[in-house]
Amino acid sequence: MAIKGIEKFNNLVESFASLPTIGKKTAIRLAYYICTSNHLEGMKLAHNIENALRFIKPCTQCGALSENELCDICTDENRQKDLICIIQSPKDVLILEESNSYNGFYFVLENLEEEKIQKLISMIKKNNTKELIFAFTHSINSDTMIFFIEEKLKNLNLKFSKIAQGIPSGVNLENVDFISLHQAINFRTNIEN
Ligand SMILES: [Zn+2]
Repeated sequence: MAIKGIEKFNNLVESFASLPTIGKKTAIRLAYYICTSNHLEGMKLAHNIENALRFIKPCTQCGALSENELCDICTDENRQKDLICIIQSPKDVLILEESNSYNGFYFVLENLEEEKIQKLISMIKKNNTKELIFAFTHSINSDTMIFFIEEKLKNLNLKFSKIAQGIPSGVNLENVDFISLHQAINFRTNIEN
């Protein structure tokens, strides 16, 4: 039960506790730290949250997080242009980039909306893509998605592959260690058409 008379503190605890992976005890610890540490640090946190909310949006081409119309990956001339890695969340871009195991482009596909598929097709044509890598963790749902996309794109003369070893079924990419992720990308397997 929250202590009365410090509602603003309690509100801060509630905000922290509403975040993923933060339990009540950690929320209290964080709120206490913010309120008792030097003020500048707390203000900086508030400022960074505000800025992120104001300026971070999906890249209009690939759907990754960006501050501009096109993200830095989509505009990077040094990336391998004929590769697109399909992921299910913009978060997966951050994880794969952090793992340093991939140097192609990305496309975030959270669902199979026709508009999204069309966007993917125009990106494939624009980049002259040769290979699509599905970085989905294994589940019946992701297998169905892969099948559906392959069917949709079968006339584009693409090689389809999916990440391989070391990724257990039903686990999010963010919970996979970098070495396994690296192996999964490098030892990706061809999908038979
Ligand atoms: Zn992009």
